[in-house]
Amino acid sequence: MSITPQPGIMEIDLYVGGQSRLEGHENPLKLSSNENPYGTSSQALAALERSAATLHRYPSTDHAELRAAIAEIHGLDADRIICGVGSDEVLQFIAQCYAGPGCEVIHTEHGFAMYPILARAAGATPVEVRERARVVDVDAILAACTDRTRIVYLTNPGNPTGTMIPLEEVARLAEALPEQVILVLDGAYVEFTEGYDGGARLVESRDNVVMTRTFSKIHGLGGLRIGWGYGPRAIIDVLNRVRQPFNLSTTQLAVAEAAIRDERFTEHCRAENARLRVWLREQLLGLGIACDESHANYVLARFADEAEAAACDAALRESGILVRRVGGYGFPEGLRITVGDEAGCARVIDAISRFKGAAA
Ligand code: PMP
Repeated sequence: MSITPQPGIMEIDLYVGGQSRLEGHENPLKLSSNENPYGTSSQALAALERSAATLHRYPSTDHAELRAAIAEIHGLDADRIICGVGSDEVLQFIAQCYAGPGCEVIHTEHGFAMYPILARAAGATPVEVRERARVVDVDAILAACTDRTRIVYLTNPGNPTGTMIPLEEVARLAEALPEQVILVLDGAYVEFTEGYDGGARLVESRDNVVMTRTFSKIHGLGGLRIGWGYGPRAIIDVLNRVRQPFNLSTTQLAVAEAAIRDERFTEHCRAENARLRVWLREQLLGLGIACDESHANYVLARFADEAEAAACDAALRESGILVRRVGGYGFPEGLRITVGDEAGCARVIDAISRFKGAAA
């Protein structure tokens, strides 16, 4: 006899992540999860060691020091910040608090796979909206809104596309949404863009916009699980009611604070990524592979068809390189390649060139 879960739970798809290991290779190169090729800031690692001395104590419940550091570095109001176990947890708080049975949650065609999962986990119905030529279509989102819509999740820059919708378009969407709808601007890759604050100023001028951010990408802390959200005080107050008091450990809090204060490391990662993603795209275009300009730390290589993408993926694996198949995100012909360091970028292009050469 099996005990029955609540209605709807078995309709939730399991999250399918990228493979994390390539067995049997001496020098594997992982370019499948948009991780930081420069590792973690040395100051953050020093904070990790120091945190060992106070592990017998409970951590702070209000995250005041980390919120103050985030506020100082980004010029934000610390009272409007909430911290979570990865930005995933903040995205989850929003669904849990604002969507439920009978509600609809909008996400876009190539959006993050967690959005429909979080919607269903909250008992709500996910609604997928088409994009236009791999860019979020504000008018299509507005057309999909009903009186049951509660949340619109939007990634900017997009993953796996790397494309961006301009801030004016985001603002137009925020302005035109029905009044019961929260616009969530998922800014997991904001630090890699130029001239875009993730929507922080928009958050400050409106009562229906929340921005989420992560330490997993530019701060090189995917393994430690820290993210944050920035929103209107009223919404942050609601989200804090479902947050566990000790959701972040002493170590997470200390390391994240040191990481965000190490602006030299952040800037180094940003500048190297900006330079190398241009190079990576030029090389792919030179090999006859379609690739949009990326504003993130990955590029989406689009091959002739699914068979070619699969064959290239297999050839890369043979060479010890892991990239991400993105059929689940609407690109069966695509491979998403994280921008590695200079040697990593050269190695992946070398392997793709050999694949293309062998096929010609
Ligand atoms: N949003 C997007 C668009 C992502 O790609 C990711 C990472 N896969 C996340 C949110 C979640 O990041 P984390 O929970 O590590 O902060």
